[in-house]
Amino acid sequence: ASGYSLLRDPHHNKGLAFTERERDSHYLRGLLPPAVVTQELQEKKLMENIREYQLPIHKYMAMMGLEERNERLFYKLLIDNVEELLPVVYTPTVGEACQKYGSIFRRPQGLYISLKEKGKILEVLKNWPERAIQVIVVTDGERILGLGDLGCQGMGIPVGKLALYTALGGVRPSACLPITIDVGTNNQQLLDDEFYIGLKQRRATGEEYYELLEEFMSAVKHCYGEKVLVQFEDFANHNAFELLSKYRNTHLVFNDDIQGTASVVLSGLIASLKPLGGTLGDHTFLFLGAGEAGTGIAELIALEISKQTKAPVEETRKKIWLVDSKGLVVSSRKEKLQHFKQPWAHEKEPIGNLLDAVKDIKPTVLIGTSGVGRQFTKEVVEAMASFNEKPLIMALSNPTSQAECTAEEAYTWSEGRAIFSSGSPFDPVEYNGKVFVPGQANNCYIFPGLGFGLLISGAIRVHDDMLLAASEALANQVTDEHYAKGLIYPPFSDIRKISANIAAKVAAKAYELGVATRLPRPENLVEYAERCMYSPIYRTYR
Ligand code: NAP
Ligand code: MN
Repeated sequence: ASGYSLLRDPHHNKGLAFTERERDSHYLRGLLPPAVVTQELQEKKLMENIREYQLPIHKYMAMMGLEERNERLFYKLLIDNVEELLPVVYTPTVGEACQKYGSIFRRPQGLYISLKEKGKILEVLKNWPERAIQVIVVTDGERILGLGDLGCQGMGIPVGKLALYTALGGVRPSACLPITIDVGTNNQQLLDDEFYIGLKQRRATGEEYYELLEEFMSAVKHCYGEKVLVQFEDFANHNAFELLSKYRNTHLVFNDDIQGTASVVLSGLIASLKPLGGTLGDHTFLFLGAGEAGTGIAELIALEISKQTKAPVEETRKKIWLVDSKGLVVSSRKEKLQHFKQPWAHEKEPIGNLLDAVKDIKPTVLIGTSGVGRQFTKEVVEAMASFNEKPLIMALSNPTSQAECTAEEAYTWSEGRAIFSSGSPFDPVEYNGKVFVPGQANNCYIFPGLGFGLLISGAIRVHDDMLLAASEALANQVTDEHYAKGLIYPPFSDIRKISANIAAKVAAKAYELGVATRLPRPENLVEYAERCMYSPIYRTYR
């Protein structure tokens, strides 16, 4: 290849870091200014550039531009500055990027599969330049973060998630494939926008929708084999549960909104129990929000208690209650419940609002997954603090404006007794001379390590026991030093090490369950995971 094309190939480009010898042997003489610099110096300069941008969306664009020019440098920045850059390449900034998607990008990213490609999906997959795909993140754009239906512009989500698979989990970038399935959009603003990049029609539903998805799932397996991981991301809940139950027994599939959330929240609960004492089974749980996140978390908690106590899951579910937009989910409700709520419809008189439900059920753990902010009012938190020595409160709704309560409110209203964590980050809070550091139940703790564990074991199915293993592995990374600060999640700066530990536990489970195909089983799985992880350090070209 010519030096000129080498500089334009993001997989190989090193910019000014090409050495004198490489410049001679690869026809680069004269195509670069004379200075030769290290990758570290390039990183320093780019971080300075990025910090100069005031608006997060400009930082995002700078990062995406870097990814288009120099992939390894992009990942080096992301890995070395993970706490600073995660909110740039993922939530909350990625949400804004999706909203402005049509105008941000000069070059398309990922693969678009629309209704127009029906009957030709296999051919579309073959247009992608890479063959050895290991992870696909796919969305249909119907429920992008808390922003709703963004149609085809949802592409920012699979692109962002896969960047994290590489940076946090160590999956090779060339093995990652972002896909957006476009079946139309019900977002009128987009339909009316002359510049909208997607199909201008209302969403296909029912048979038409499921046929396209079926063709997609078969094409993926046909093209990449049985070990390709398909992560469903930001589908609306009416399709998300259906797709997961439809494909979990035939494909390697994972839904981060349901299962990833469940695993990271369960981990926080397991970690909280150390300072609290007692077991998960001693607790009573109340959720505000009975959708993907709420019922997903509830089910994993019930499963974990069932494993610990040997009680059937039908029993362990009884200590878990959910409130949806119509009040407490109970069996005496008149209207028919969606199927994912039915396991939680215990016997009780209807209760119309959260405060009354809290007072009646007296939960020890209160979890917010409604997407509606400000619902954990002073009265609700005070009630929790009145019958709990240390109430556990998780305000998971994103973004920050939708959190059920702020960290400061949780600590203040409970007189400093609450153990609090949230979906969006909150700064530490000082109350009565003590500093409390709220934990962030960020899905990024789990899915990269979990996915990597599936890959390194060659797993062909995702089993709930792997989610439990991931939760426990993460909880085990919380040390006494972290507890002393009030943390129930380890700091993000250690994420590669955390991911390697999660990957090892997940892989071990895959071998135990007989769904691993990479044989023989490596003896030390943590070491093996670390060795397999992608490194962003430049290679030398001869
Ligand atoms: P979803 O499937 O749409 O579920 C939302 C649920 O909240 C539904 O059950 C809905 O009730 C209920 N709800 C809506 N308004 C309510 C109100 N005013 N009072 C009581 N309940 C209400 O959404 P999801 O995917 O579960 O996500 C929910 C939230 O969790 C989002 O804000 C998301 O950002 C957050 N989340 C956080 C994390 C994390 O922190 N790691 C992970 C995933 C999701 P109906 O069923 O009656 O409509
Ligand atoms: Mn999501």
